Amino acid sequence: MLLRFLGTHNAESKNTRLVSFLIDEVLAVDAGSLVSELTFAEQAKIKAILLSHGHYDHIRAVPAFAFNNSDRTTQVIAIPKTLEILSSHLIDGVVYPEFASETSFLQKAIIQLVPVEPFNRQNVEGYEVMAVPVRHPLDGVGFEITSGDGKTLFYTGDTGPGLSSVWGDIFPQLIIADVTWPNSLANAAKDADHLCPEMLKEELIEFRQLKGYLPKVVIIHLSPQHELEIEREIKEVAKSLGVTIDIAHEGEKLSL
Ligand SMILES: [Zn+2]
Ligand SMILES: [Zn+2]
Repeated sequence: MLLRFLGTHNAESKNTRLVSFLIDEVLAVDAGSLVSELTFAEQAKIKAILLSHGHYDHIRAVPAFAFNNSDRTTQVIAIPKTLEILSSHLIDGVVYPEFASETSFLQKAIIQLVPVEPFNRQNVEGYEVMAVPVRHPLDGVGFEITSGDGKTLFYTGDTGPGLSSVWGDIFPQLIIADVTWPNSLANAAKDADHLCPEMLKEELIEFRQLKGYLPKVVIIHLSPQHELEIEREIKEVAKSLGVTIDIAHEGEKLSL
């Protein structure tokens, strides 16, 4: 399984992109920066897009992607609520064409909306995908994704604390976790349902207690203004737990 991070931040600028990553170049996870970081040829390889929830920074590149790839149909996979937000707010026939409708654009559906139910394992282009509810507005989910050769990652999506309730259901070799703010903004993180380094540490301690191991961890969705502080604090967490925790950067690749 080869991961490629396209966007790893919660705010966009010349140097930072919104959250998206690719698995083996064919499966996209979240659509914050799905077009700006890929050539047209690279976009053409993508077969399916998983969306964790309906917030703008995770869905916004879907219409631009559909516009660029109108010669075929791409699956967009999410819980029904996320698909509904996408259909009613972005590809709604006002802001963008109704790309998921057969009667809207080029007389065929460019996007096939594929609903998933939490905890239902589903085959997506040869990968086993399971949506897992996490603590975040709009019924946000994380995804456990297993490749054909048995490599498994868990992406938390945007999440607040309380991941211990899902640890029993997943067996990842890699966790990609939301850490948006530093410890000094723990209250803001709690209010907005995100994690800071100290909160991630608590979640990982519970993971290890329950499962008897800790996988490699990569953090994502960082606030650019606080990145250095987060980096310092994450190093302390990694040291105290005796594990590797890396920060995802735009353009980085990771082999699992
Ligand atoms: Zn969110
Ligand atoms: Zn977000």
